[in-house]
Amino acid sequence: DLPYSCTVCIPEPPRPSLPMDHDAFISPYDDPNECKKKSLFIKRDKLMIDEVELGSGNFGCVKKGVFKMESKQIDVAIKVLKNENEKSVKDEMMREAHFMHQLSDPFIVRMIGLCEAEALMLVMEMAPAGPLNKFLSGKKDQVTIENIVMMMHQVSMGMKYLEGRNFVHRDLAARNVLLVNQQYAKISDFGLSKALGADDNYYKARTGGKWPLKWYAPECIQFHKFSSKSDVWSFGITMWEAFSYGGKPYKKMKGPEVMSFIDSGNRMDCPAGCPEAMYELMKECWTYKHEERPGFVKVEEKMRTFYYSICKKIPDYMKTENGKPPK
Ligand code: ADP
Ligand code: MG
Repeated sequence: DLPYSCTVCIPEPPRPSLPMDHDAFISPYDDPNECKKKSLFIKRDKLMIDEVELGSGNFGCVKKGVFKMESKQIDVAIKVLKNENEKSVKDEMMREAHFMHQLSDPFIVRMIGLCEAEALMLVMEMAPAGPLNKFLSGKKDQVTIENIVMMMHQVSMGMKYLEGRNFVHRDLAARNVLLVNQQYAKISDFGLSKALGADDNYYKARTGGKWPLKWYAPECIQFHKFSSKSDVWSFGITMWEAFSYGGKPYKKMKGPEVMSFIDSGNRMDCPAGCPEAMYELMKECWTYKHEERPGFVKVEEKMRTFYYSICKKIPDYMKTENGKPPK
């Protein structure tokens, strides 16, 4: 004879796991005990570093690891700076860390801290399923269009958060959207990001660096002006990459060719199988004049509305108190 309280043990019908089911939805520092100790720097003895490389770049490589907290251990990704790098590269990583330190959103990769030991290391929460473009590539049969709409809606929520904080990302692309799992996307790579001053609505870059031109709006290339509106342009390119299952934007065109292609009023075609409403939104993101381009408040609303219109059941994390989606 079972205690009556066991009636609550009846399993719920199966459904795909959603972001809020995952530990990564809440900050590991949500625990007040962990919070007390939170600082930008973390001690080397709290960190175990695997040999497994998750990715690499000019700066060095990203390794898998584990971070020991007071009450738990969490998987982390560690950006390890090569020691032979010049001071300027080190400064860049410090800036990236200071930037990430200010962010807290379920749809943005969280920074755990900086560690100065055998190398300078940026420790982040782990997004095990990796970059969106690689994940989707060759997966037309396994990943539905609804799934992609959901992921891109999550990216729009993360971007709306950044826009609200007056932060510009400047490198939004499918390669910089990382997946916790097939249902949960997070924005990453804040190496080029900037916090705008209270009275500024754009960042003016003094020099053009190694820029991802195919993701950049006309005003970025012509006037070096970066704003949330130019991030919206990049969001449109990221949508195109996602709906073409990790396709390369503008095929074999080179950066300068893309610029004249855009200036003459051309835009990329609708990816095969991509819903018309999503292609319309991409084209809105590619509005030539930034003054006329929508912001992320609009973009997120359109992604959400479209997602509700196609998904059979509204996920709980999108419901308000009355169980219905917000208007
Ligand atoms: P870069 O500035 O060189 O593009 P990124 O921050 O984009 O550096 O990281 C490079 C690669 O490392 C990513 O493409 C990804 O494969 C891997 N990576 C970075 N951060 C994480 C993370 N938090 N979780 C899992 N993999 C990661
Ligand atoms: Mg990157």
